Amino acid sequence: MGEKTPIILFYGDAKIIMAENTQGCSGNCSSCSKACSSKEGGSLIEPTGEYNNIKKVIGIVSGKGGVGKSMVSSLLSVLMRRKGYSVGLLDADITGPSIPKTFGINSRAMQNELGILPATTKTGIELMSVNLMLEENDSPVVWRGPVIAGAVKQFWHDVVWGDLDYLFIDCPPGTGDVPLTVFQSIPLDGIIIVTSPQDLVSLIVKKAYNMAKLMNIPVIGIVENMSYVKCPDCGKEFKIFGSGSDDIAKELSVPLLAKMPIDTSLASLVDNGSLEMVNCDYLDKAAEAIEKL
Ligand code: ADP
Repeated sequence: MGEKTPIILFYGDAKIIMAENTQGCSGNCSSCSKACSSKEGGSLIEPTGEYNNIKKVIGIVSGKGGVGKSMVSSLLSVLMRRKGYSVGLLDADITGPSIPKTFGINSRAMQNELGILPATTKTGIELMSVNLMLEENDSPVVWRGPVIAGAVKQFWHDVVWGDLDYLFIDCPPGTGDVPLTVFQSIPLDGIIIVTSPQDLVSLIVKKAYNMAKLMNIPVIGIVENMSYVKCPDCGKEFKIFGSGSDDIAKELSVPLLAKMPIDTSLASLVDNGSLEMVNCDYLDKAAEAIEKL
């Protein structure tokens, strides 16, 4: 391989990573003379790069932020890596990227003549996140929707992922512009919906479910996070956010793959950047479901 050079995005500088196909796109095909797949009415699915051979792509989605989508994406990557698979993790939560910190990665992304090189975690998970490109970890990413969506596509296409059994995509939350682009342009083999056990969130789960159905993407199942807290003294479980997601899983006919508690050891592993040391079986059933895909 040729010389590696660092990639650094400076605050507010969207030019470097803006994908070609978002340049000048007003979203109005009738006044546009460019030829592109949206206009032709064909599939918007984009191929990954020529050096990549990715067997399964799994999207981790949530109707809203803060329910533990990144936690579940990271934990599943760790579990699948432990099972001996080659695993990549694409942090598509562009405006709230948290994955590098979870794995204790402080290095900057590099590139060579083949493309953008992912960072590699201690156990060998390949990672890409916009945070690897920011001058400072706490720089905000103040980009508009099409630019963010372009960055996600570029991570899919321009990163040299190589041979992967599984690529997990920590999708942007919600059902807006950017998650829609991920659903439309990356050939997802399935999604896992992460939720917390609140009625309000269940409504949003349905939106995420319906969006996947609209695009014919299989829903592997639901992971309920923050289901309860276990008292360290008496072992009693407290359901802080109320009733569970059993009803919604039944209503949508999708498996409820896990009920994961609020676990302070998980939070501190994330804070210490050492999630790969985790010792819990919360997502074992979800990992098995992914293996069966
Ligand atoms: P999202 O990706 O949905 O925005 P995160 O995965 O970043 O949410 O989680 C939000 C915060 O909650 C993070 O600080 C994360 O470490 C913490 N967290 C998530 N799930 C758990 C859990 N089960 N137990 C303890 N802390 C958790």
